Amino acid sequence: MADDDTTPGGTATDGLTVEDLTLIYGSGRRARTVVRSVSLRVPRGRTLGLVGESGSGKSTIGKAVVGLLRPSAGRILLDGQDLAGARRRAAVRRVQLVSQDPYSSLNPRLTIGRAIAEAIDPGGADAGRHFAAIARSLETVSLDPAAAWRYPHEFSGGQRQRIAIARALAVEPEVIVADEITSALDCSVQAEVLNLLLDLRQRLALTMVFISHDLAVVRHVSDSVAVLRHGELVESGPAATLYSNPTHPYTRHLLDSVPRFAE
Ligand code: ADP
Ligand code: MG
Repeated sequence: MADDDTTPGGTATDGLTVEDLTLIYGSGRRARTVVRSVSLRVPRGRTLGLVGESGSGKSTIGKAVVGLLRPSAGRILLDGQDLAGARRRAAVRRVQLVSQDPYSSLNPRLTIGRAIAEAIDPGGADAGRHFAAIARSLETVSLDPAAAWRYPHEFSGGQRQRIAIARALAVEPEVIVADEITSALDCSVQAEVLNLLLDLRQRLALTMVFISHDLAVVRHVSDSVAVLRHGELVESGPAATLYSNPTHPYTRHLLDSVPRFAE
């Protein structure tokens, strides 16, 4: 499905491109390079799975892609345009992060409606004025628009993850970075959220970076997969090829530790 590099009718620069990205935490003697020269390509409307063990640098790359971390070296481009060069606020809106624990990212004191309004219009937060957009985003994730008047603690983990997705979508981004969004959920709820993502990808032609340590989950949603180890890319390619015929020993090792892929 994703063997070619372009979207039908698109060009080779459409979508997200990460070029030689290096990310360093701290400075001077405390400087620690946690991501080294990573290049990724996600054509518009496609999903890239980013996998690797805990601590391999997945979330750090995710943060850089959404603009929370400045690249120490390398570039992040959207449709060929350098995001660091674009006006910051506009660039940040084009790429939205959904993270593992929506309970910590959803302010417990804000109604869902206000939280979504705050994402649409930072500082404005007039939920009334944005009601139509709020209701639409909740409906997109199959939640009743009446959820807008309720608080995060009134929802289950799976519902909160839907709300976090609705909030990201309300901004009408071009790219979503989903960082371990199913990791804290029970198996059946995991499947529900994954199916929602598949459905959204289809309906909204979303470009997505799907980060997970769980290769079985990644396989479900990704067109292509990139394998990260200690901050370096060891292998990447179309999902079907990578799962059926991994070339790097580390990828094989990761696949072997997933029971349902072991021979
Ligand atoms: P992953 O998401 O793959 O588990 P992370 O990107 O969270 O990995 O972390 C990669 C490495 O960077 C880890 O060794 C982690 O300890 C380190 N790290 C993460 N955040 C920071 C930070 N704010 N300051 C210093 N080191 C960090
Ligand atoms: Mg992480």
